[in-house]
Amino acid sequence: MKKVLFLLTALVMAVMMVAGCGGGGGEKKAAEAPKVLRVGTEPTFAPFEFQKEGSKEFDGFDMDLIRAIGKQLNMKVEIQNMGFDALIPALNSGNIDVAAAGMSITPDRQKAVDMSDPYYVAGLVVVVNKDNEAIKSINDLNGKGISVQIGTTGAERAAKVPDAKVKNFNTNAEVFLELKNKGVDAVIIDKPVAEYFLATGGGKDFAKIVGDTLEAESFGISLKKNSPLTKEINKALLDLKKNGEYDKIYTKWFGAAKK
Ligand code: GLN
Repeated sequence: MKKVLFLLTALVMAVMMVAGCGGGGGEKKAAEAPKVLRVGTEPTFAPFEFQKEGSKEFDGFDMDLIRAIGKQLNMKVEIQNMGFDALIPALNSGNIDVAAAGMSITPDRQKAVDMSDPYYVAGLVVVVNKDNEAIKSINDLNGKGISVQIGTTGAERAAKVPDAKVKNFNTNAEVFLELKNKGVDAVIIDKPVAEYFLATGGGKDFAKIVGDTLEAESFGISLKKNSPLTKEINKALLDLKKNGEYDKIYTKWFGAAKK
């Protein structure tokens, strides 16, 4: 009887050890990860994230991508609306798990948070009023009024323009409205967002892009520093690229031609 008990105890301990420390670290992590993926975004950044008029639903490339990632990770995606400059603090305080917000990967941000592998290559451009013939590129912005979204790389770029009067806004709707109202001379914003605004967002009536694309930037998903989810998000991104899902989402928002 004693022997049987001893053997049983040994068996139970062996099973516990295997379950506890061996057998596929990946599986173990997946079991520990939160079942809900709390996503933060700032939805005035079409076509990456936006809410159709009168709708609370989050639409756009990033939103489709993060939902596909959630599926891949077997997690329920819950998206919250917040200010762009509130995203990194929300990650650090643990209020959200990831930010999917067309966030450019920069060395400063990589110090503050984890950033996934790049999922989209973008860049900044200068947008001016259609009838503005004086400003042909960023070099003509010295001393001018520039509107930007607070906390963005566009805001950082504008801050470097000599003597510029930079106006920071919470949403890109306000950023563009300020240009429309001629409260500023120019906007600095991500190229695909400017292009989308000119093509479909009412921008073509009053605005145009001038000059070349400023420095290239890649978008990444951000997470709290050293989050166990970072590796999994990168793996999910890779899997979505391999299985064609990423391409489907890309084509839905940007068409096949641009690829
Ligand atoms: N890509 C820019 C940045 O990371 C702007 C992002 C945004 O406005 N959502 O700062």
